[in-house]
Amino acid sequence: MRKKIILGQVLNPISDSKCDFYKNGALLLSESKDGWIVDGVKDRSKVSKKALEEAEVVEMKGQLIMPSFFDIHFHWVQDDVREMPKAKLLEWLEKYTFPAERKFEKKTYSKNKAKKFFSRLIETGTLGGAIYSSIHEHALDHAQENAIGHFTIGNVQMTMNSPSFLTQTKKEAIDLSKKLSKKYKEKYALTPRFAIATDPETMKKSAVAAKKNGSFIQTHLSENHGEIEFVLSIYRDLPEFKNVKNYTDIYDKVDLLGPKTIMGHAIHMSDAELRKLARTKTIIAHCPTSNAPIKQKGLGSGLFDFKRTEKHKVRWALASDIGGGPILSMFDVMRSFVDQNKGINPEATYTKALFRSTVAGAEAMGVSKVAGNFKKGKEANFITVNAPKGDLEDSETVLEKVINRGRRKRSSYDQLPNAVFFKGKALFEKQ
Ligand SMILES: [Zn+2]
Repeated sequence: MRKKIILGQVLNPISDSKCDFYKNGALLLSESKDGWIVDGVKDRSKVSKKALEEAEVVEMKGQLIMPSFFDIHFHWVQDDVREMPKAKLLEWLEKYTFPAERKFEKKTYSKNKAKKFFSRLIETGTLGGAIYSSIHEHALDHAQENAIGHFTIGNVQMTMNSPSFLTQTKKEAIDLSKKLSKKYKEKYALTPRFAIATDPETMKKSAVAAKKNGSFIQTHLSENHGEIEFVLSIYRDLPEFKNVKNYTDIYDKVDLLGPKTIMGHAIHMSDAELRKLARTKTIIAHCPTSNAPIKQKGLGSGLFDFKRTEKHKVRWALASDIGGGPILSMFDVMRSFVDQNKGINPEATYTKALFRSTVAGAEAMGVSKVAGNFKKGKEANFITVNAPKGDLEDSETVLEKVINRGRRKRSSYDQLPNAVFFKGKALFEKQ
């Protein structure tokens, strides 16, 4: 069995408050049938002479090595509208987002876009997560063909309150999700766009098939007050939903909640709703750059209360939500999480942000045994960036320097990784 030792600075996220930093680190790998796996990470002075002799030693001088990212909520078909004006959510959807998604009805367009988007995604260092596609079956297939890593992807279901060119009949929506969840299993995510756009019968019938096939389920929940009021006004008119107490109850009634269900945003939640998410082990995707104030190119939805969420023991991880979020890179998402909590929650550190973009994402995707950090036996999925200068001793100062170095242009975060490795193989290396 071949061995490899990679020398460089190494960050290994362990928990919300702990991330090991090796200034002179060594990442030990061994080859398996299914690519390279991690043997361990340690200080290079602790690597035995014998181990060094037996392995191929790769010196990555001046490089900082960290696990690749998970992004558990984003819309790959909204890549073109990320930076469009968002002063009014509905206007942004109608004027930019829906026409952008409509273009995916053309197969050649969708195919070309998928090739470009997913290679760009790799370059940003994201190798896992949960993705929304358009309503079109071929666009979902194109995304599945091009995504490399631990992803689940779903076509959105839109059966009501949507533009005619993006509206399916109930039968079309149900049949398609049944077919695709059977075909892709856990790589498929049943994706009702949200309760405003997807009728309850479609959600309920599709959820049965998704759960039977081990697929994921994802949708949006309680992103802003207008949305919550609108949802409740629609559903309380339906006899079956007359008595629902809140937005979460609606999804519960159509059996959407569960350990493989990811709710996007969930900002404005009552204690009863959080208790329900905890009880059903449902996951929240927190998207700080998308929720950020409009002048920061977000939708101004509000600040997610992670402390309260954690108090209720609800699982959560970070996500970009492009196009609601303007930037694909998880570095920008981590920066935004820390910035928005500054002066409010001192626990919102870069160390925590990295944990929530790696280990917690892997946990949400059900792959924490094989991905998320450099624990022995996991896949060698990692990125390298320029190591920050100076005599730095801990993860927080190192990450602060990498992420907050000067006032960098936000779009430049996408170009931070110098190389991206999946199972030890370089998928991307800067020229
Ligand atoms: Zn979204």
